[in-house]
Parts: sequence; structure tokens; C-alpha cells
Amino acid sequence: MTNNTQTKHYDIIAIGAGSGGLSAVERASEYGKKCAVIEVKTIGGTCVNVGCVPKKVMWFAANTATQINSAKGFGFDVELKNFSWKTLKEGRDNYIKGITTWYDGYLEDLGIDYIHGFGKLVDQNTISVNGRLYSADTIVLSPGGEPTVPHIEGAEYGITSDGFFELEALPKKVAVIGGGYIGVELAGVLNALGSTVEIFGRSDKLLRGFDPMIQDALDKDYTNHGIELHHGTQIDKISKDKTIYTNKGEFSGFDVIIWAVGRNPMTQHLGLENAGVNANQRGFIPTDKFQTTNIKHIFALGDATGRAPLTPVAIAAGRRLSDRLYNNMTDRHLDYDNIATVVFSHPPIGTIGLTEEEANDKFDQVKVYKSEFTPMADALLDHKTTTALKLVCAGNDEKVVGCHIMGHGADEMLQGFAVAIKMGATKKQFDDTVAIHPSSAEELVTMR
Ligand SMILES: Cc1cc2nc3c(=O)[nH]c(=O)nc-3n(C[C@H](O)[C@H](O)[C@H](O)COP(=O)(O)OP(=O)(O)OC[C@H]3O[C@@H](n4cnc5c(N)ncnc54)[C@H](O)[C@@H]3O)c2cc1C
Repeated sequence: MTNNTQTKHYDIIAIGAGSGGLSAVERASEYGKKCAVIEVKTIGGTCVNVGCVPKKVMWFAANTATQINSAKGFGFDVELKNFSWKTLKEGRDNYIKGITTWYDGYLEDLGIDYIHGFGKLVDQNTISVNGRLYSADTIVLSPGGEPTVPHIEGAEYGITSDGFFELEALPKKVAVIGGGYIGVELAGVLNALGSTVEIFGRSDKLLRGFDPMIQDALDKDYTNHGIELHHGTQIDKISKDKTIYTNKGEFSGFDVIIWAVGRNPMTQHLGLENAGVNANQRGFIPTDKFQTTNIKHIFALGDATGRAPLTPVAIAAGRRLSDRLYNNMTDRHLDYDNIATVVFSHPPIGTIGLTEEEANDKFDQVKVYKSEFTPMADALLDHKTTTALKLVCAGNDEKVVGCHIMGHGADEMLQGFAVAIKMGATKKQFDDTVAIHPSSAEELVTMR
């Protein structure tokens, strides 16, 4: 341990005040521990500042636009005449400012020290920030990730999801590079608000890794709603006038290009080598089920570990870690199986558990139930969406091991079903549940 009279000592310090780091120290402070959290950018991390929260505000705005456009079908004499991106952005930024300001007071109330600056490990117990040293018995590494920008000529003419939230006006024509969940979400928002959108992806479908039913349904819906999809595309370079050169030819006329090709962990300059903490080739920090790195009092959680990069996952891992360390809950840890997640596309997608293919690889006996229809909400509209639902069941008792939904309300629908699936519910138990009618969710308990 560094011997420095200036060093301030804590029970626990988290590097990164995002979803994971904040949760670990909040919970530790409830158990009376002396805590600090270090943040180089803005408290709240990705989720609050450039992730889930501003994204969801934009999604609500996009839904409102869709609903105004749909109102005619229900007999309303309304027309979407104008839309002020400036008003939306100001409202969104103020909302987020409210959250981050609230955090400051909250940490103070809990007696957690907030240290602003870049934290770097000096040794296994010491961190330097702006030239000052802080030591702790326990260190939590929760630095999250940042958007990947590939090393190709002209990459700098594109922005990332961070830049999307800085846009001062609605772009007319946008290229979204990447068909993963962030690309799909931003494309859906921009399309609904009035931009012309094209998605360029390397795979032959959107949302690689999702169940094929979802991939096909989203492909169809996005195409029907005017989003042009360029699958199997390799980007070679981008010129200053924002022409994109690809293996499939040149594409031009964009005023904004968005890179949405993944995220890298922010572990490069963390000083892992000074503390002997292992990271893998991509910079992710491996841990055991208790979030322990190869150093027994240094823990890692959240996006930097490369597992299920979602806010509630980082929060749950952080809270459980402090429960275990400081509240005698000796086996408390996060179970990474059956984590439900939503893609805020238009319409949204909810998914939990295994895809049909994964289930077939894992079990001998797999039975799939699915249903696809036009939801009643769209029955009177010119522009219809698809609702697609699938249950993947395994074994003699048809335990539900996967549930995949796309359609209006899928985002809110899945949470309750996730409880049942986490508890090990079978198809019969789904069937024994009386349906709520009329709803799209009722299909999940009436499938044959
Ligand atoms: C556009 C977008 C949309 C998303 N939407 C959703 C969603 O709808 N639902 C969902 O569950 N998840 C969503 N996510 C993912 C979610 O934001 C992350 O999974 C979550 O924020 C991870 O939490 P974390 O604590 O691991 O890291 P972060 O929240 O990223 O926090 C890490 C913090 O550490 C700081 N930091 C890094 N290095 C240092 C250092 N050396 N010293 C000091 N500070 C440092 C960073 O500045 C950052 O503030 C989205 C992400 C993006 C980008």
C-alpha cells in the first residue's frame, strides 16, 4: 500500500459513478461504511446522461409523433404540422439536469464522498485522482464503456450515440451504421420524427443474436415504415461530404452519419497493470460470480465486465456485492440467467431467455409456440405494425425457457412474464392463467 500522509482512507471506493458504482456505494453506506465514488464526467454515468434516460425521452417523443399521425384513423381531424427539436432537446436536457443535481444532494445525505476526476489505480489499495491519493480496503471498478468508432478513413465524419444526444436539429437524412439495439432504437426514433433513415449492418438481419422471429418481424416493420436496410454491408471509408463507400457501392446525401457498432470498456487507462488486475484482450474485466476480479478485494461490475450490458444488471450486481460484503449475506450474487431486456424500437421488443436456436442446442425436447398478427390498436390505421410473440419451451413439462415479443406494449408486457419465467413457469401454468381481454398479452397465455 502506498505510504502517503495525504492519502484519505475509505472502506470502499468505486471508480465510475454510473449505475453500477453508485449502487455499490449507496448500499455500502446503508451498512455504515465509509464510501467514495470517483467520476470523470457526469454523475449518473451512461444511463442517465447519454443512454437509457435521454433515449427513452426521445422514444416517447417519437411515439407521440406516431400517435398524432395515427389519429386520423380514429376520426380525429389532426395533422402533424410542426415539431420543435429545440423544445424537445431543452426539455430532455433539463430533465436530466434535474436527475444529476438530485444525485449530488443524495450522495451528501448518505455521507458518500464524490470525487470528481479521472481515477487511476496506483496499487492494489490506492487510487490517484488529480494528483491526490485515496485508499480503500475494497475497490469497485465500474468504469462502463464508450461507443466504438472503427479505425477507417473518414470515421470522424460520423457521430456516435453520444453525439446523437447533442444534435441541435432533426437531421433530414441519416445513415445509422450498425443494426444492434442502439442502432435500431436511434433509427426508429429519427424515422418517426421525420428523418429519412438508412441502416447499414454487417449481418444479414437486424439485431444479431435475437430470435429469428423478432429479427424478421422488425426487418419487415422497419422496411414498411420507410427505413432502408442495407444488410451484409462492410464500410470501407467515409468522405468529407459524408458519402459512405461500401462493398455494395457508394451511398450519399446524408447530413448525419451515426456509428452504432458496439461499445468498448473504459479500462485502457485505469492502471489495471499497477494493481495486477487481469483484463481480456478487448479490455473487459473478468470476474467470478461474486464480481471478484483476480485480486480478492478488487471487484468489477457493469458494462466493463462484458456481461449483459444493461443498467439494472449493473445496479443489481452493485447492490448484491455490498449486501454480501457488509451484511453477512455470504452467497448473495447476481444470477445472469433469464435477464429480461427491451429494445425500444418502433414497435418495441421484449425478450428473455433462450432463442429457439439456443434452446435446440441445449435441450433434446423443445417445443415452440408462436403467433403473429396485426394488433387491434392498428386495425383502423393505414400504417399497421406487426405483433409477434413466441414462447420457447423445453422438456417433458414444457418449462418456458424463452419468451420473445415484438409489438405495442411489449416493453411493459414482459416484466411480469419475466417473474414467472425466472420462477421456472411451465406452459401449462401459462395456460392456467386466465387471459386479460382484449389485449396483445393474452396471446401468451392462450397459445396452442
Ligand atoms: C444509447 C444507449 C441506450 C441505452 N439504453 C439502455 C436501456 O434502455 N436500458 C438499459 O438497461 N440499458 C441501456 N443502456 C446501457 C446502460 O446505459 C449501461 O448498461 C449502464 O449505464 C452500465 O452501467 P455501468 O455502471 O457499468 O457504467 P456507466 O453507466 O457507463 O458508468 C461508468 C462511469 O464511469 C466513469 N468513468 C470511466 N472511467 C473512469 C475513471 N477512470 N475515473 C472516473 N470515472 C470514470 C464514466 O465517465 C461513467 O460515468 C444504454 C446505453 C446506451 C449507450
